[in-house]
Amino acid sequence: MRRITALSLAALLPASALAADPHSYAQPDQVVVTHLDLDLGIDFPHKQLDGRATLKLDWKNPKSPALVLDTRDLHIVRIDGLDAVGHATPLVFALAPRDKELGSKLTIQAPMHPAQVRIIYTTSPAASGLQWLTPAQTADKKLPFMFSQSESIHARSWVPLQDSPAIRFTYTAHVTAPKDVRVVMSALNDARHPLDGDFRFDQPHPIPSYLLAIAAGDLAVKETGPRSAVYAEPSVVGKAAHEFEDTEKLIATTESLYGPYAWGRYDLLVLPPSFPFGGMENPNMTFATPTVLVGDKSLVSLVSHELAHSWSGNLVTSAAWRDIWLNEGFTTYVQGRITEAVYGAKQADEEALLSARALEKGLGKMPANAQKLAPDPRGIGADDALSDVAYDKGSWFLRTLEQRYGRADFDAWLKGYFQRHAFTSITTEQMLADLKPNLIEKYPGKMSWDEVQAWVYQPGVPKDAPLPSSPRFEAIDKERGAFLAGTLPAARLDAKGWNTQEWMYFLDRLPDAPPLARMQQLDAAWHLTGTPNAEIGMRWYSHAIAAGDKAVWEAAREHMTRIGRIYLTTPVYKAFAATPAGLAYAEAAYAKAKDGYHPLTQGAIEGIFAKAKARAQGSAK
Ligand SMILES: [Zn+2]
Repeated sequence: MRRITALSLAALLPASALAADPHSYAQPDQVVVTHLDLDLGIDFPHKQLDGRATLKLDWKNPKSPALVLDTRDLHIVRIDGLDAVGHATPLVFALAPRDKELGSKLTIQAPMHPAQVRIIYTTSPAASGLQWLTPAQTADKKLPFMFSQSESIHARSWVPLQDSPAIRFTYTAHVTAPKDVRVVMSALNDARHPLDGDFRFDQPHPIPSYLLAIAAGDLAVKETGPRSAVYAEPSVVGKAAHEFEDTEKLIATTESLYGPYAWGRYDLLVLPPSFPFGGMENPNMTFATPTVLVGDKSLVSLVSHELAHSWSGNLVTSAAWRDIWLNEGFTTYVQGRITEAVYGAKQADEEALLSARALEKGLGKMPANAQKLAPDPRGIGADDALSDVAYDKGSWFLRTLEQRYGRADFDAWLKGYFQRHAFTSITTEQMLADLKPNLIEKYPGKMSWDEVQAWVYQPGVPKDAPLPSSPRFEAIDKERGAFLAGTLPAARLDAKGWNTQEWMYFLDRLPDAPPLARMQQLDAAWHLTGTPNAEIGMRWYSHAIAAGDKAVWEAAREHMTRIGRIYLTTPVYKAFAATPAGLAYAEAAYAKAKDGYHPLTQGAIEGIFAKAKARAQGSAK
């Protein structure tokens, strides 16, 4: 019964609301893709996929003349319409000139409204959603590797489809690859599949296109529980299985809070270091960065985060990129609850405080519109929408609701919200329409509707937003103050027992350009240069470079070259780009490292260089 409520809500939406995604050419008020059958050949030497995509269609407008799809850099060979018994008729199509952000609109003339269309195509070696690695760029150096990253609007660079989170479809796939290569997808995967170069996949639940995912390479498998396993290169899989051994505990904990895990298996794929993100919540198969394998489980909150997405994001999805905080803010909140239940309140509070402090630091530099949970989408790129505001302000809002309403009533609302909207894509306004009767008006006097609106539609964070307290962090604040004032020598910092989060907090709140002598003392005492922990390394190198410590340059370059995760590598590039000598050094490092980076990481770094040069030109005038 609950499911029907959600469906009827979607049915009440005006068609214009469904067609409102500014980051897609799709016209879901005319026709909707309900199923994708994908046939892919992986061609490593040419860095391309040879594809055949068959789309099942649900025509909404009886007079609609065409099917409009999203593509980027695809070479379309031919398109057929298929009738109910599978008879093929060639269809006329036009590929519009490439838009820099959106790609090329593909218009397929189909006035006879075929039940399916079949598109034969190949991808470009420069596809924005794929990365191709040579054997030398992998950990074990035996076989080539490829993987996808579709969020936000990159699925269109490897499959022609309606690339909007508002549209959900089921999929099946047949993938061929060289022998010995293992292929995995965001679907049910069989750990015992022979490496015979012929793989089949089934995703029986409707998913949005940004959750379409594939990876292929030299992959070994290790079970971590009755419904979970880790996939990684053979030399990495043992370490990964150890780091992620709590996976079943995390799944069971989340189920106890928010209801059954809906997807069957939950597997993890550890990618080579060039993966541009921390993790990607691809259904059934989270893609993860190896930078979380630090040996002490201190960064396992990444798994809690991606697992949480199985409810917030994959089950209930934001209908457009402007509403992405419904995915990321809710997930960051749920992640905190999982961390609290499995690893204790101390660690959860520290992570919440880190996130709130990082947001406060970043907000001042953002335009007002970007500080809103639900911004005006005009002028906001689909990738830009994934900012700290969506994650950290979103989760802060939910923690505020939890505090005002009490855990029991808030939890009941959130669990019900996931059930009422399961397997649908909704807007901020639909979420608010659920929140109002089911929490705010149900328990009057705890939070006004004006306060809710201010959180969602106003810039900044309300002054009375509650912060968790952490005695450990308060002690670190005192130590940092004394260290900077010169009254506490670096060697006497109480840092022997600091975990990753505590080091992150100490370094995060140093001044932007700390005194050089202090940085040198810190390094002499605690040997931060050369740390294998990339979270600590990113913060240490950025501050040391800003302080003018040339002794760390070589190790910083090694960090940047080794790691392609945007969040961990770009701050170091930014620190270098602040001075002409640093910029020249970083550009030389980039020239050598570029081939190993993902296209998204390349774009982010080249953006930093362009900005630095524009700044230099501006000040020279
Ligand atoms: Zn996320």
